[in-house]
Amino acid sequence: MGIYLEFVLDLLLPRACAHCREDLGRADGPLCRSCAGSLPPPLEPACVRCAGRRGGPSPFCADCAGRRFSCRLIRAAAAHRGPAASLVHAFKFRGSRPAVKAAGRIMAAALTLHPELSGFDALAAVPVHPRRERERGYNQAELLAREVAAATGLPLLDALERARAAPPSWRLGRVERRVELAGAYAPRPHVESLVSGRSILLIDDVCATGTTFEECAAALRAAGAADAAGYAFARAGSFT
Ligand SMILES: [Zn+2]
Ligand SMILES: [Zn+2]
Repeated sequence: MGIYLEFVLDLLLPRACAHCREDLGRADGPLCRSCAGSLPPPLEPACVRCAGRRGGPSPFCADCAGRRFSCRLIRAAAAHRGPAASLVHAFKFRGSRPAVKAAGRIMAAALTLHPELSGFDALAAVPVHPRRERERGYNQAELLAREVAAATGLPLLDALERARAAPPSWRLGRVERRVELAGAYAPRPHVESLVSGRSILLIDDVCATGTTFEECAAALRAAGAADAAGYAFARAGSFT
């Protein structure tokens, strides 16, 4: 079903929880109280660098051990399953702005779980390709970042742009994705004065492999950023 038709149906039909489809009645959505209270916490045990799944005694996952990254740290507000995955689906594939606002508020509230994300100077949203933004009507990462900016008082910098389109990430494995995304993000012209010497927290909806955050962080550092980390609404845990 097209995003527009779903949007119209959303206006006409009784409002239902985005996860369990329970009638919301007069409650605020997009999740019912029960689903909102059962958001899956970020993965455990998690890699201390990328918050991805790890096994064994090392604090790092196999991908992060012994490597240096432009994106020093990745954290998420929730694991990408259950009600969190339903929220993502609602704003990514069904064009629901209330869902993206709710996810942004959850991200802002969950910052207290991650004290290592405090002390950043500014936020920057991961850009989507202009064609995808037109189809959806918004860049979901930017709307999430606005909610985090409103809650933290941090400035939201319009720092990055998509240099070229990439296929949807779920079609690609980790190595393919790294090759595909190399050079896909670039600092906006004349952004150096905003970025130079500053520590920047990147915001995205879903982190699957960490490659998008890494490419964006590399672009920020190329523009002079002193530090970069990534904060996603949902962390996917199954790596390929
Ligand atoms: Zn529900
Ligand atoms: Zn890792």
